[in-house]
Amino acid sequence: DYVLYQNRIIPKNELHIDMDDRGYNFGDGIYEVVRVYNGIPFAMDEHLDRLQHSASELDMTVPYSMETIEKLVYDLIQKNEINSGMIYFQLTRGIQPRNHLYSRDIEPVLSGFSKPLETNVEWQQNGLDTWMTKDIRWLRCDIKTINLLGNIMAKREASDNNCHEALQHREGLVTEGSSSNLFIVKDDVIYTHPSTNLILNGITRRITIRLAYQIEATIKEKPFTLEELKQADEVFITSTTMEVTPVRSIKGDLTASYSIGPWTRKLQHAFTDYRKKQQ
Ligand code: PMP
Repeated sequence: DYVLYQNRIIPKNELHIDMDDRGYNFGDGIYEVVRVYNGIPFAMDEHLDRLQHSASELDMTVPYSMETIEKLVYDLIQKNEINSGMIYFQLTRGIQPRNHLYSRDIEPVLSGFSKPLETNVEWQQNGLDTWMTKDIRWLRCDIKTINLLGNIMAKREASDNNCHEALQHREGLVTEGSSSNLFIVKDDVIYTHPSTNLILNGITRRITIRLAYQIEATIKEKPFTLEELKQADEVFITSTTMEVTPVRSIKGDLTASYSIGPWTRKLQHAFTDYRKKQQ
């Protein structure tokens, strides 16, 4: 089993994580999860763009060129013989004796691993049970930080209630899932929360929006209320690992159930076609 550390691929048992890494002490870092289909990373350029966005919003500098990171990801896939899977990589601000005040002179630390993964066919076909809870996260959800306390609290709560994903609401509006973006369909119009500081602009979200235009759906990036979610004709979530997955029920702060509708199916097919064409 190999891992990525700085600009090298090394055996996992040779990895040394420094106690003074700011990622370890403060969660001071950012990350990306990239899907691998048939040994090839999917939407790599978009993930690298978003890494760059997260870095610059946090006053961090990515220490390697995008080409170097892409090559390292390919090397990791090959070394670990990943055919269908995912790559996780993170960039922490660097190593410094613990102090809230970060130094601008430290070198960021890049690290990552790979994992085999298959899309959950059951969920793709029959939909997911979800749990609605309050969005307690900070106000910069657009930054893909490794600080995920709000998200992991919500996910645990969902699982404790026999649900597979948590959906979140803030001031009456529905934001996103704990690790996914949320879409609804009402009267043949597709809605999703606009890309603001309150959500992570998912790569799968962006692709889904583009595909919706291509199949001539009407799509609006507009927030919707809990009541509008309850009244929706179709609900689905998107993420790197879950692609386009229908939601069949919501419990918690909102109770609703849905049948899986034509727009969800069309977008699932469009997504699969698109990612196959990228190979
Ligand atoms: N929102 C949040 C909070 C997430 O953590 C994720 C996935 N990590 C997403 C949305 C979906 O993003 P993507 O499509 O890039 O995986």
